[in-house]
Amino acid sequence: MADPGECSIKVMCRFRPLNSAEVARGDKYIPKFVGDDCVQIAGKPYYFDRVFQSNTTQVQFYNAVALKIVKDVLEGYNGTIFAYGQTSSGKTHTMEGKLHDPDMMGIIPRIVEDIFNYIYSMDENSEFHIKVSYFEIYLDKIRDLLDVTKTNLSVHEDKNRVPFVKGCTERFVCSPEEVMDAIDEGKNNRHVAVTNMNEHSSRSHSIFLINIKQENTQTEQKLTGKLYLVDLAGSEKVGKTGAEGTVLDEAKMINKSLSSLGNVISALAEGSTYVPYRDSKMTRILQDSLGGNCRTTMIICCSPSSFNDAETRTTLLFGQRAKTIKNTVSLNVELTAEQWKKKWEKEKEKNKTLRTTITWLENELNRWRNGESVPVEEQFDKEKAKAEVVALDAALNNNDKAAPQPALGSLPGVALTGAEKEKYEAEMAKLYKEMDDKVTALLHLLLESSRNDHDTLQTELNRLLAENEASKEEVKEVLQALEELALNYDQKSQEVEDKTKEFEALSEELNQKSNSLASIDCELQKLKEMSNHQKKRVTEMMSSLLKDLAEISIAVGSNDIKVPLCESSGLIDEEITTARLYISKMKAEVKTMVKRSKQLESSQAESGQKLEEMESNLTACQLRMSQYEAKIKSLTDNLQNLEHKKRQLEENVDLLNEEIVRISAEGEHDPHCCWTVCPLKTERQANSPVRYLVSQIQSHREAHQKQISSLRDELDRKEKLITELQDSNQEIVLEQERLKVEHEKLKAADQEKSRQLQELTLLQDRREQARQDLKGLEETVARELQTLHSLRRLFVQDLSRRVRKVELVILSFISAKQKISFLESNLEQLTKVHKQLVRDNASLHSEIPKMEKRLRATAARVQSLEAALKEAKENAAREKKRHEEEVERIKDTVKPKNMGRRASIDYLSRVYPASRPVNAGDRHQHPPRPHEGISGLENGWMDDYEDYY
Ligand code: ADP
Ligand code: MG
Repeated sequence: MADPGECSIKVMCRFRPLNSAEVARGDKYIPKFVGDDCVQIAGKPYYFDRVFQSNTTQVQFYNAVALKIVKDVLEGYNGTIFAYGQTSSGKTHTMEGKLHDPDMMGIIPRIVEDIFNYIYSMDENSEFHIKVSYFEIYLDKIRDLLDVTKTNLSVHEDKNRVPFVKGCTERFVCSPEEVMDAIDEGKNNRHVAVTNMNEHSSRSHSIFLINIKQENTQTEQKLTGKLYLVDLAGSEKVGKTGAEGTVLDEAKMINKSLSSLGNVISALAEGSTYVPYRDSKMTRILQDSLGGNCRTTMIICCSPSSFNDAETRTTLLFGQRAKTIKNTVSLNVELTAEQWKKKWEKEKEKNKTLRTTITWLENELNRWRNGESVPVEEQFDKEKAKAEVVALDAALNNNDKAAPQPALGSLPGVALTGAEKEKYEAEMAKLYKEMDDKVTALLHLLLESSRNDHDTLQTELNRLLAENEASKEEVKEVLQALEELALNYDQKSQEVEDKTKEFEALSEELNQKSNSLASIDCELQKLKEMSNHQKKRVTEMMSSLLKDLAEISIAVGSNDIKVPLCESSGLIDEEITTARLYISKMKAEVKTMVKRSKQLESSQAESGQKLEEMESNLTACQLRMSQYEAKIKSLTDNLQNLEHKKRQLEENVDLLNEEIVRISAEGEHDPHCCWTVCPLKTERQANSPVRYLVSQIQSHREAHQKQISSLRDELDRKEKLITELQDSNQEIVLEQERLKVEHEKLKAADQEKSRQLQELTLLQDRREQARQDLKGLEETVARELQTLHSLRRLFVQDLSRRVRKVELVILSFISAKQKISFLESNLEQLTKVHKQLVRDNASLHSEIPKMEKRLRATAARVQSLEAALKEAKENAAREKKRHEEEVERIKDTVKPKNMGRRASIDYLSRVYPASRPVNAGDRHQHPPRPHEGISGLENGWMDDYEDYY
């Protein structure tokens, strides 16, 4: 069942007419209205609670939109009307309109009027307290419009958690005029604070709050209603206005509050649990209006122009979204003590019913749990429960009345016998016991289940703890890994840095090297060029010098002649000195080289001598060696011979011994032959022939022994000799080896020396070559120098000649210059004169048309004068004729003598009118007087002349 207090935000859409600028621009009127609640833009329909066309009047709009809200507020509900839309879409027109124009006034003044009308129509028991506040939100700062000193107010919450602007001026009002005064004051304050009101109002939100509190003096019931009337800032985009700097900040802030309004509306429309009211002060203030305890009407103001197409669409979409928001409204009523009491009673009753219900249900549940089946009539029934509560109440009331409380067994009207009593008591005890048992069983069960629960929970907890530990471990590992990674990364980055540094250093080095290489190359190139093209350079120098000379000869006429001369001579000198320097350097170098080569030669000779000595030594050694070898050979031969002899002698001895043995053996058998075995016996038989033999043998033996000993001696000697010889041989061999090594060394040294020698000779050759080249160069340089000198001499001569010439020329030039300066001054004067003349000419030229005009006028005058003259002449001729005729007549009539004189006087008086009386009446009948005309002409001329000068 829907909450009776729930109501969705009402969204009204109002289109203003095209304004004159849009009409002039030829903008199209884009909305198409379908019925009361739909508008189509480019075929797309947008539905609202009501859609108002451009021709809707303020009264119509008010009646349809705001009239009901007045009633609501006065009945104790909160209300909000806010106007949303882009700048100049008609928000202010709708909310305020022309405040004091009965036709054009907007919602606010009409509401004010209606509130008071309503109040006046109410019964006398109601007392109203109305207070108004007026503030604006600009850049998310709340400014009190009824007190300009409060520029940054804050939003707080009251005890019911409803936000309000703290410290905001609340003006108590008693009539619509006072409210309108407050509005006027606020608007004035707003105007005073800002320079451009239109701009400011399009960037700020203005909020007018009417707070109505009514009290019924009879019932003491208090109702409060708050009405917010909000004129929002323009909802246009930042981009379209092309805002910059502070303006952009403002636009962001405005957009921020508007976008937070949008976010709040979106969150509410989506039914999100979190609504970002706190994002801006505006949404905070309107918190109750959006999704809270408030009847809210949103007026979507739109421009119908095709120019604002996009903005209009977004505005319409915004309105559609807002339409889905549901508010829950409740009466803001303050109860009286009586009402509170009643309410408390009611609540208490409710509480009781609920308690009975709970116990009933619990019992039933327990029975079910215990395996009992509860019959339908004993199952929970709301009505029964209520009845029970009522019965219980009645019983309680009775109990209250029947005090003191009756004891058990002494219930009124019930008399128990002793047996019955006992039985009853036994039954009671049994029942109590049963109950106790049941309770303990229940407790056990509960304990068991709670234990089980506890166990499961414990295991769950353990599992979770283990999981937690594991995840902790994991996190630790991950962190470690991360640390390692970070370390690795650091190392790598360090390495990379090092590498890059190294690379940089290397590249720098490379650069340096390449630079140095390049410079060396350059130098090499230069040196090559120098060595290869020295001659060329000299010739070039010469040619350039010649060219310079030629140029100088050409330019000899000018003053700058000395400068290049000096420069060229200086250059030549410089060149010569550098060449000399070079030559001297080379000489020194060559000298040192020669010295060095001489040293090397001497050392070479020494080493050759040494080598020879060594070689001779070597040959002597070799000779000695061969001698020693021969000696060794002969000695070994001797040794061999001696060995041989020794062996022979030993063999002899052996033979003789054998013979002795044999003879002695014979002597045993034959007394002649027993001497060898028993000499004593032979001695004793000395006289026998055997004795002789024995003695002979003895002598032989002796001799033999002697020989042996001599031979042994000799052998010893020989052996000694041999050992000596071997020693010496070894020494010799060693010596030979040493010599060989020395020889090798010497050979190597010799080779080295010869190589050095070769190198040196090569160097020498090169030096020689260089020296010769140098000599040639020197010679050529000397030659060139000579030619240069000669050229210089020639040049100097030529130059001096030319200088002389130039001096002459200069002299002539000076005189010419003087002449020229004279002429120049003349020319200057002349140009001045010329200029003056030109100016005069110009002025004369400008005068020409004037003069021509005058000339023409003069010519015309001359012509007229000529005509007059002619006429005068003719007149004169006629006069003359007439005169003559008269004269003739007079002559005819008067005497010729007197008549002639009189006639001439008459004539004169006629020709010169001054002599005649002026008669204005007939003035023009006379021909013009020649004198008069001429003098006029002369005067005219004189005027012109004066004008001219
Ligand atoms: P906003 O407050 O939205 O910036 P305004 O209320 O100041 O716009 O309106 C801009 C102009 O358009 C005003 O001159 C106003 O008189 C005019 N206007 C707005 N709505 C209407 C309407 N419904 N009928 C006639 N004129 C309107
Ligand atoms: Mg406005």
